[in-house]
Amino acid sequence: MPKKIPTRRPRNLPTRAEQNALYEKKRRNRDPYRNWYHRAAWKALRKQVLENNPFCVRCKRRGIVTVADTVNHIKKHESDEELFYDIENLESVCASCHGREIQSEEKRRS
Ligand SMILES: [Zn+2]
Repeated sequence: MPKKIPTRRPRNLPTRAEQNALYEKKRRNRDPYRNWYHRAAWKALRKQVLENNPFCVRCKRRGIVTVADTVNHIKKHESDEELFYDIENLESVCASCHGREIQSEEKRRS
């Protein structure tokens, strides 16, 4: 009769999947704005911004034409719902600019 292979996780502790689910839940509760990105209102606004300006504004400043696929908050909304949905505070950017420049700007500011 084969013996059950012993595991290192004590029975009273959650599995890795349970730990991950718990982490995500805590993160959503801590930063409710994360849920705003899933709302229909945001999706419609995002679509409108990209339709108004389908090219990356950051690349344009450097004389490059790139198709935008991301909408960036110019001024950090910091969970301010009004600022989050303010179309004047939104700009079309490409994923590259959003990842590189903007995230590092936000890191510097915080
Ligand atoms: Zn760009």
